Order: sequence, then structure tokens, then C-alpha cells
Amino acid sequence: RKFNFNPGPAAMPLEVLEQAQAQFVDYQGSGIALMEMSHRSRLVEDLTEETQQLLLDLLELPSDYQVLFMGGGASAQFALLPANFVQPHQTANYVLTGSFAEKAFKEAAYLGRTHAAASSKAQGWRHIPAIAADDLTPDAAYVHITLNNTIEGSRYLEVPEVGDVPLVADATSEILSRRLDMKRFSMIYAGAQKNLGPAGVTVAILRSEWLENASQAIPEIWRYSTFAANRSLYNTPPVHSIYMMNLVLKWTQQLGSVDQLEKQNAHKAKLLYDVIDASEDFYRGIIDTEYRSHMNVTWRMKSEDLEKRFIQDAANNGFEGLAGHRSVGGLRASAYNAVPVEACQALAEFMIDFARKNG
Ligand code: PLP
Repeated sequence: RKFNFNPGPAAMPLEVLEQAQAQFVDYQGSGIALMEMSHRSRLVEDLTEETQQLLLDLLELPSDYQVLFMGGGASAQFALLPANFVQPHQTANYVLTGSFAEKAFKEAAYLGRTHAAASSKAQGWRHIPAIAADDLTPDAAYVHITLNNTIEGSRYLEVPEVGDVPLVADATSEILSRRLDMKRFSMIYAGAQKNLGPAGVTVAILRSEWLENASQAIPEIWRYSTFAANRSLYNTPPVHSIYMMNLVLKWTQQLGSVDQLEKQNAHKAKLLYDVIDASEDFYRGIIDTEYRSHMNVTWRMKSEDLEKRFIQDAANNGFEGLAGHRSVGGLRASAYNAVPVEACQALAEFMIDFARKNG
């Protein structure tokens, strides 16, 4: 298999793929495949409940948080969040730190009043702006942040302080990669296709108390309360994606704590950033050093021609998925939890070699 640096859908642990393969045709001796099974069956109910609990345990969240499995990707959450939580007398506050944060902000504007509390757009998204108390509107329904900016390659150093305003995080490219105090959030959401499993299922985790404020004036299928009341089995859930997530979460648990993953992810990112920083401008990091992401390492090179050659050469050497997002260009190596240290080691060596030959 190749070294997979895709930004999402991203690398899966090999052990998990093999486990799923072994269960593919006959799920747990039931005589049928999981994807052929009723979502009302005991096996699927057990699977869903176990997966919800695994997530709470790994995120160190107490039982007053509800884990919901939804569809539509993290992009659907951009609209569902304001639909559920911005009352007519309120304003949704957003911190703009990259393209996905901006997308979330724009979707919210269709549903209620919005306010950009802080933005680093004018600085090319190179840093994460601080939020001062008077940056927020007095009628703030919530503050939305994007914990890790997948396209740009930046991340929050810590959970920002926003007083008693409910804090909501898009944790799509961040979840379970390092220890943060997740109890600081009223809601966390993430598309699964990076650290949690395959695409198809989206996780929304809400504090029960906050969930009580959700709107009852929107269609039932859009309400978080519908999913909570029906334990994510209101309609047919993406069962196979939930199953894969279950295996990924067990794999994550076996690796040890999130602290251990954090250490490993920091080491992986450092291997690449060290090459960038030592390259005397052959490779140029895009993000201010302090805010560099450990999940998505981004950099530029002297010309687009050279960047294209790098991507081609890398592909010929077994490195997959290194092109930057189509909206920004450049290079990006996404090193989520399932990307092994050896892959980053091999890429670092390839980068040094490429610079020597083309510098
Ligand atoms: N938010 C972040 C931070 C992302 O990285 C992505 C996708 O990469 C999205 C939202 C959109 O996710 P989806 O494609 O699941 O809608």
C-alpha cells in the first residue's frame, strides 16, 4: 500500500480495514452482512450505542452530552447549527480562520443574524485571531470556531475563552488528535472522514442542557432533538459508516490515551516542519509557526512548475494526496491519526532528496 496523505477521505488504519474485510459478508455470525441488516435490529442498536459511548469516553465527556449520528457531512452542520440555535432576537457569532469557517458563516446568514467576531482573512489566514469579550455581540446565540483549518493548515493552540456564551466547534480535522478540554464546548461536530472513519456519517455532540434550547419550529428531520430522542435511529442511519467508526474508535482506544496520539502527531508534524524550516526557502511554510496544524502540514515552493514536479515525483515514489486544496494550491501533507510515523519519516526523506536534486 502507498503512503496516504489525503486530506479526507483520509488514511484508515490497515488493521481496521482487515477487520472489516473479515466481517464483510457475515456480520458477527448473523448469516448476513451488516449493510443488509435492519437498522432496528438488536445488533445495530448495540453497535450504535457502543459507538456513542466510545466517543464520549475518548473525548472524556460526561453522560450529559449526547452523541448524534447524522448525514450530510460537516457542511450540513453549517446550516443545521443556526437553524436549531439562532432565535429571532439573537445573533450567531463566528470566528473566521479559513475557508470552512467562512462557509459556515455564510450558511448561517441564510437563517438569522450573523456577526464575524474576529477574522484573519486579511492576513491570508496565517494565524488564529484572539477573541476579546467586546468582539462578541451582547445577544450572541453562540460562538462558532473551526478548531483546525484543513485547507490552510492552522489550528487553535487552546480552547478560546468566550465567557458564558455557548461555544461550538467544527472539529472535523481535529477530533481525537490531541487533548483539549472538550467540556468547554456546548456542541462539537465532525465529518467522520479524517480521524473517525469513512465518509457518510457526521458526528454532532451536544450538551443536553443546551439541546433544550433548540428550535421546535423547523422540520423534524433537521432538529437535533429528533436525533437525540430517537438515539440516532429516527430514520435509516449510515450503518456501515458507523460500524467502521466503531472499529476506528476501538483501534484508537488500543493505542492508549489521546495524550499518546497527541505526542505521536506532534512528532509526525515536526518531522515535516523541520525539513521545511531547514530548507533555506526551498520549501516555505504558509502558516505562522505558532499556529501550524499538526494534522495538515502546508507549504509552498518557488514556482507552480516546481510544485507540480514535486507532486508528480512524490506520486511516482508512492506518496498519495500531497497537492494543496484546489482553492489555494501549494502542497499539503495530511497526517491524521491513522498515518504512521514511518510515512512522515519517508516523506521527510523524500523532501530532503528532492530539494537536493532540484535546489
Ligand atoms: N469543516 C472542516 C474543518 C473540514 O475539513 C471539512 C472537510 O474537509 C468540512 C467542514 C466539510 O466536510 P464535509 O465534506 O463532510 O461536508
